[in-house]
Amino acid sequence: MTRTLKARTRPGKRTLLAALTATALTTLPATASASAENTTTTPMTTYAQTSASQAAQVGADACPGGWSGEGTVWFGPPRIDTGIRNPDRGDGCTLLDVVWQEEPFATHGAFVSTVGRVTRAFHASDLLSAREAGEIRAAAARSRVGGPHDRSVQNTCADRVALTFDDGPSFYRGQTLAILRDKQVTATFFDVGMRVDANPHLAAFERQEGHLVLNHTYEHPNLNEVTVPRLREEMNRTEEALDRAGVERPFAGMRPPFLAANEQVRAELTRLGFTVVSGDIDASDWLPDRPANQLRADIAAGIAEGRRNIFLHDGPIDTVAGRELMKALPLIIHDIRAAGLCFGTFDSTGAIVADRYVSSGEPIPTVVDAVPYLPLLFGGGLPPEPYVIVD
Ligand SMILES: [Zn+2]
Repeated sequence: MTRTLKARTRPGKRTLLAALTATALTTLPATASASAENTTTTPMTTYAQTSASQAAQVGADACPGGWSGEGTVWFGPPRIDTGIRNPDRGDGCTLLDVVWQEEPFATHGAFVSTVGRVTRAFHASDLLSAREAGEIRAAAARSRVGGPHDRSVQNTCADRVALTFDDGPSFYRGQTLAILRDKQVTATFFDVGMRVDANPHLAAFERQEGHLVLNHTYEHPNLNEVTVPRLREEMNRTEEALDRAGVERPFAGMRPPFLAANEQVRAELTRLGFTVVSGDIDASDWLPDRPANQLRADIAAGIAEGRRNIFLHDGPIDTVAGRELMKALPLIIHDIRAAGLCFGTFDSTGAIVADRYVSSGEPIPTVVDAVPYLPLLFGGGLPPEPYVIVD
């Protein structure tokens, strides 16, 4: 770790917003990204502008439920994954969109019957083989969806919010996971490699609970200020740490520390095969003096403005602010649902897509090793113990 990390300053809010717009989709050619950079539109518009297929989906989506054709067909509780790709009718309706838009199901039989009808229709359209349709029906029958023991919170709607947590696995990660379990929310974790290496069981558990876990570099540098070999090392070391921890990822995705990624950095990340996922509701929760009610209010304001990608920090890589976020998180989730919104994660284009929360039912682990701590510039004292300062 070099001391330069301590000497840098965080970019101002304006810069952050520019960075997030510019990094919304780095899988695109530089020209397309450049045009996106000049807009200050909402994220959905940015996504629509930057990908023809995404634009088609946003423009004329017969099924706005948000299930991506990239994923597999699975049901739960308990989570039963067929491994069969979620087929897309071509009008924005995937099989899972068509199934879940009928929730809530009055009985388990009603759910199984819906899946039967939908799979037959997809088979008739040559979108599923007879064997695949049979396997999907069998998975539905084995699940408990709609049954007396299914206490799932509904998660079907046309507008989704991504709840994301950077810089972990942190001291507070166990608490975050417990709140998400209690509220039945699927989140996305952008984990830091050095922290994954310190407590790999926490990263593994995040995935086990059905959350999406992606890369946030190894030591959290500003990627605009490092050499290309260092950038590659930051990304690769973290991928290796996640692999060692057994964290399966549906695609290679990352969020740059400080949301800082200039054109050169984005180009290199694209070469390495990463989708850059940004964030657009910034409650400055890394600051130590942001009380829970302020975090809640800032996020509610962002949602009201049409922003949907909330980036939070449940661990004091920068400050001790995680405690206030733990107080605010259940209320933030409540507010989002009260506004009629659902939760989602990301697909490989960086778009927010549908997901459902299905708990593993396993005990939520806690930190076992000291959490590496990078004393960046933001003050606020030392994190809760045990920690080890990396410098
Ligand atoms: Zn970070």
